[in-house]
Amino acid sequence: MSNYFSTTHTMNWTTRQSAFLTLLAMFFGLGMIFILAYQVNSSYRFEIQKANTETDHQAQAITNQINNSLREIELVLSDISDRISSEDIASAERGEIRNKEIQNLLLDKLVKIHQANNIALVSSNSSINHRALDLPGSGQLINHDYFQIIRNNPYHESIYSRLSSNQHNTGIIVARRVETAKAEFAGLIVASISREYFEQLLSTISLGQHGNIQLIDQEQNIIAQYPANAISPPLDNAIIQNLISGKETAALINQSQTAQSVSSYHSIKDTPFLIVASSSSLDYLLRWRKNTLYYLYGGSTLLIMALLMCYFFWRSHRLTQNLQKKEKHLNASEARFRQMIETSPVAIVLARTPDYFITYINHQAAELFNQTQAGALSQRVFELYKTKLNFIEQVEKIQSGQTQQNIEVMLQQKGGQPFWGSLSMSISESAQSSTLMIGISDITARKQLEAELQHRATIDSLSGLFNRSYFTDRANHEIARAKRNQQPLIVIMLDIDHFKRINDSWGHDIGDKAIQSLAELCKSTLRDIDLIGRIGGEEFAILLPETALEQGYPVAERLRQRIEAQRINLPNEQILQFTASIGMALLSSDDQKIDSILKRADQALYQAKNNGRNQTVIYSQISKQGKA
Ligand code: GH3
Ligand code: MG
Ligand code: MG
Repeated sequence: MSNYFSTTHTMNWTTRQSAFLTLLAMFFGLGMIFILAYQVNSSYRFEIQKANTETDHQAQAITNQINNSLREIELVLSDISDRISSEDIASAERGEIRNKEIQNLLLDKLVKIHQANNIALVSSNSSINHRALDLPGSGQLINHDYFQIIRNNPYHESIYSRLSSNQHNTGIIVARRVETAKAEFAGLIVASISREYFEQLLSTISLGQHGNIQLIDQEQNIIAQYPANAISPPLDNAIIQNLISGKETAALINQSQTAQSVSSYHSIKDTPFLIVASSSSLDYLLRWRKNTLYYLYGGSTLLIMALLMCYFFWRSHRLTQNLQKKEKHLNASEARFRQMIETSPVAIVLARTPDYFITYINHQAAELFNQTQAGALSQRVFELYKTKLNFIEQVEKIQSGQTQQNIEVMLQQKGGQPFWGSLSMSISESAQSSTLMIGISDITARKQLEAELQHRATIDSLSGLFNRSYFTDRANHEIARAKRNQQPLIVIMLDIDHFKRINDSWGHDIGDKAIQSLAELCKSTLRDIDLIGRIGGEEFAILLPETALEQGYPVAERLRQRIEAQRINLPNEQILQFTASIGMALLSSDDQKIDSILKRADQALYQAKNNGRNQTVIYSQISKQGKA
């Protein structure tokens, strides 16, 4: 109830802010993903480009080296051809001295060109007549078609060929044509270069752990490769044909769409040989893959964070919306509640705790307390009570969990005018404070009616004295108390003398007047604590508590005398006067109820009448007389 009838604030700002932040988080997340994707893509291109360049560079370098090496051999062979004659080539038997000279020459040149492992002179009928070293297998130096080609083709000065078709004994042969003085084919000077030389050369370049480099001929036979057991990508026949035909000197291909390798082809000038260098993506994309993995982790972390942010912003947005909805609802129900209690026929007061200042009072309540609604707000709720203590008691009961429904309590209006209210109180607790709700209905009229009914039930309407039944009740209580406290008590029976005559001669109304005046006389003569009842037509019973015979008898006598002395003025200037007889009895230990004492007093009264009326007779005296 703390918010009842207080203003509330909207939360538009928060809603806008959370929507903005959600958008921001989304843009941030998407932006990061875009940047990462771009970065991954461009670094991928960069790595491939780099691999292309490096592979090509390596292939070019080795091609140059082999080329230089072959040219060097060509020069040496040319030098040898200058120093020998066609006869030297044609015959193995040039005399011991010449033979020795030729071999020394060949050996000397072989030492100069370390890349070659042998040099030999081959005659036009393809017999090896001289050689630097007498190695086994030298015969294969002339086992090839190249011999026929160079013999039949005078334009070929030098020719290159694969050394052997044997996979395990490959290498290259460089052959130089030697002619006779008549420019006829005389034979060849041949140098062989072993596979091991090329392997050693190829091993000097670096193409990564999974890369490889090959020296091949135009039939795609492998002359040498490094590493020796490398599995190279399949060779591209079209490129090889292009290079052999001399249309291109180098070509670069990225094998397969997934770029698993990069291969660079270079032809070795004026030879049927090619260098093929390949790099594997396992090497050149290694760093990229690693980085991509990091980017992927980072990106997904960012994405998750952005999504989480979106979720939290969205949730807070929803919560805010719900809150606003609830607030609207609350405002509406508060307005309804306000209207309801404002138009309620019940007077309602709300007060805050713990100071009990009135926070709201409806129209009915303000009217009930005879003040304005605005004016009541400066008061504390207990000021509406006649006794503040009543309020405190009620609040304590409420706080201890007891209900306070229809409690009758004396309240007061603004001027202090008291009135009876039936009051229901409850307390409404909230997190911030608690509010006391009090509903009040005015029960003054009912209280009056109750009092009147009570009056009617107990009071005789003619005399204003207790009626018979009420007198009996009260008298019985007094008897019980007197017995409890062991105190004396006197009961008097009083009867107007010759009342019939009054009625007869003056009329019934005057008779009533006589009864009324006697009642007044009794009240003025007796004490407040004495009980006086009209128990018959003109018969009265009187109970004097805490009274012994010594005090009681004079009281009865004084009453009788005052009745006798009374003069009642009648309308026609006549005067009414009458007497009464009195019987008196004392409480005895046997008495439980009024009946037995009344009976004795009645007997004493009877005696008083018999004795001539207008006198007081005590029961104890007539019983003594009876005995006497
Ligand atoms: P006694 O001295 O022996 O008492 O003579 P009495 O005439 O008073 O006799 P009794 O007490 O028997 O008479 C009672 C009369 O009182 C009878 C009745 O008409 C009359 N009476 C009873 N109640 C009322 C009453 O309320 N108003 C009037 N005016 N008369 C009443
Ligand atoms: Mg009488
Ligand atoms: Mg009588």
